[in-house]
Amino acid sequence: CGIVGYVGSKDAVPLLVQGLLRLEYRGYDSAGVGVIDDTGSVRVHRSAGRVSDLRESLPKNLSGTIGIGHTRWATHGPATESNAHPHSSGDGRVSVVHNGIVDNASHLREMLRAEGVALTSDTDTEVLAHLIARSSADTLENAVIEALTQVEGTYGIAVLDARHPDRMVVARNGSPLIIGIGEGETYVASDLAAIVRHTSTVVHLEDGEIATVTASGFTTFTANGPTAQRLPVDVEVIE
Ligand code: GLU
Repeated sequence: CGIVGYVGSKDAVPLLVQGLLRLEYRGYDSAGVGVIDDTGSVRVHRSAGRVSDLRESLPKNLSGTIGIGHTRWATHGPATESNAHPHSSGDGRVSVVHNGIVDNASHLREMLRAEGVALTSDTDTEVLAHLIARSSADTLENAVIEALTQVEGTYGIAVLDARHPDRMVVARNGSPLIIGIGEGETYVASDLAAIVRHTSTVVHLEDGEIATVTASGFTTFTANGPTAQRLPVDVEVIE
């Protein structure tokens, strides 16, 4: 339903929670955040119910300068904590938030189970984290491409990987995703409302596009290779 992400030098957690609160008007049934902390580990906190419940239950020491957040509108599996996003690989290295529907999720779940992967949710989304983590591709970007070529359906996704604490990888197919440019920090969101307090200089990803997002900016590409560098536009904000 709603995605927000941050990479920069500030603590991502309050920025993610604030972004999720700004997405509440779209409706949702559960929420969560994931960050890479200063030890280099991905840490996730999720909760069924309201963003304010998530905020109140946050561990005091949860922080990191890169992170992703999600408000979920369940399509596959009930609104429980274990079905809330982010969804992670078994070792916790890769973590994903996802808007949309993976149409061939039951096939992919069977395939992963047959390989011995333990699935910990009822969602279609969880397969993305496992597919990315098990890829032997040389880069996170190529691992995301490899995973997405196996996926049928719609998605806006944001991915964290503990091996690459400087970046998020985002992708879009049929579910909106924008990148917001700040000074020494970059935001991602499914909806401008989540980030407009921080920047109104944005790029709208197109279907089939993937982007690497770091504190200093972004690079777009597709499964077929790099795309021309996109120019951010200043959107006029009427509050
Ligand atoms: N299909 C996913 C799920 O059920 C994502 C739903 C959404 O867009 O929030 O978890």
